[in-house]
Amino acid sequence: MATKTKKTQKAVEEKIAPAYKVAFPPELPANKRGKLSSKLFIMEVADPMGRPKAKDEWKDFREIEKIELKWEFCYKHSLGKYSKFFIELEKGNFYATKCPKCGTVWAMPRPVCANDLTICKWKKLTGKGTLVSYSISEFVPAFMKVKTPYVLAMVKLDGADTLFAHQLLGWKKREDIKTGMRVKVVYKKGPVGHPMQLMHFEPM
Ligand SMILES: [Zn+2]
Repeated sequence: MATKTKKTQKAVEEKIAPAYKVAFPPELPANKRGKLSSKLFIMEVADPMGRPKAKDEWKDFREIEKIELKWEFCYKHSLGKYSKFFIELEKGNFYATKCPKCGTVWAMPRPVCANDLTICKWKKLTGKGTLVSYSISEFVPAFMKVKTPYVLAMVKLDGADTLFAHQLLGWKKREDIKTGMRVKVVYKKGPVGHPMQLMHFEPM
């Protein structure tokens, strides 16, 4: 049954893929444009199934209008049970959580132990650790607004049982970045775009 479903799915995808096109005809003549000043353009969307127009039961709804709306947003976002982690980062302290039952130390902190669902306790770490793995990105999304190459480090902090992922800065040559090297948490003072930017790693 599963194989049959898979085959059917593939057949549908093959049928849709080549025909799935959004047509962008040139902007309509002025006399067909309506009166909204914010109207950008009207476009016609093709039938995603690529069926002949004679059978297009959606033909009355193919004309799509695109308009421009400007929004302003203000988010009030609670950091919830993770709050202490970020409050302490601001003070230059690194906190993990420790499970009182199995002893696992979680960094990133977890309010509840993933092994046995016991409620954890906060535990201060030194913020020093060892680079276990890393990746170097030459290209990052523009919204990140960071310099490249961007080094994402997986760090085992001293006293923790898990790996912590964050940016590695403060290195000179990429050849100097090696697994097993000692790194430390460096805290940022002042306003940041996101609470996670209150820290990063640097070689010790
Ligand atoms: Zn546990």
